[in-house]
Amino acid sequence: MSDECVYCGCDVSVHAPVYVAEGGERDPVGGFCNYGCLWAYIREEDLAVGTVCRID
Ligand SMILES: [Zn+2]
Repeated sequence: MSDECVYCGCDVSVHAPVYVAEGGERDPVGGFCNYGCLWAYIREEDLAVGTVCRID
C-alpha cells in the first residue's frame, strides 16, 4: 500500500493517517493524511452521493 495520500500526495506518515479499503476482500484504496483529506477526496469524487445504507 502506498504511503502517499490519495488526495494530496503528501507522505501520510507525518500526519495521522487514515487507511481505506473496499469490499469484502478489503481491496486497499489507499492512505490519507487524515480525515480532512479523506473527506475532501470523497467530496471531489462524489463517492458518498446516494450511498448511505440507512437514513433515520
Ligand atoms: Zn493529504
